[in-house]
Amino acid sequence: MQGYIIDVKSVRDDDLIVTIITREHLITAYRFYGARHSNINIGYKIDFELETNLKSTMPRLKDVIQLGFNWILDRDKLYCWQRLLKLFYPHLKDVEVLDSFYFKLLDNLVSKIIKQNPKRAIIESYIQLLEFEGRLHTEFICLLCDTTITEKISLVRSFHPVHAECTYSKQFKMKKVTSLFHDKSLIMFEDDEVEYLWNLLLQGL
Ligand SMILES: [Zn+2]
Repeated sequence: MQGYIIDVKSVRDDDLIVTIITREHLITAYRFYGARHSNINIGYKIDFELETNLKSTMPRLKDVIQLGFNWILDRDKLYCWQRLLKLFYPHLKDVEVLDSFYFKLLDNLVSKIIKQNPKRAIIESYIQLLEFEGRLHTEFICLLCDTTITEKISLVRSFHPVHAECTYSKQFKMKKVTSLFHDKSLIMFEDDEVEYLWNLLLQGL
């Protein structure tokens, strides 16, 4: 089985509880002496087996092999990637059965990051996630005053549209946000705007 590690908790001495996004499940498994094995870390893609034990409700993780990315030694890319993967844990932690959308989204993102700026690639994929979960607000109604936004748009957590005047937050050109929401593209955005969106994303998926 293959999956992406989104959470690692230390228990007792060197043991770990590891949470993994696989194609169809969110798996939480126990790893004995995990800390001694460098192939367990947030963001890593691993190949593994699960061993179930009648005495314990949590399966054991075994035969773990780390599956590398081309950019795994690029600190900047790995840092952004790990920040994103960490956000999936609070977002999905109560789920057991997962739509394959999540695994595929991460697989695609791994290849996009080879060539693209990691923050831009991650934000564009996040728009796909919002759309998949029915949380992409393309109708442009302000979250705060409940009226239509025609100009001076801003975005708050979960990229919810608001009037820039209603929040005193960074203002965007309407056509940029429209292209982001419809084409899932940041091509029109300047680097400082991408940085603003990145910080919004870090507030939580
Ligand atoms: Zn408003």
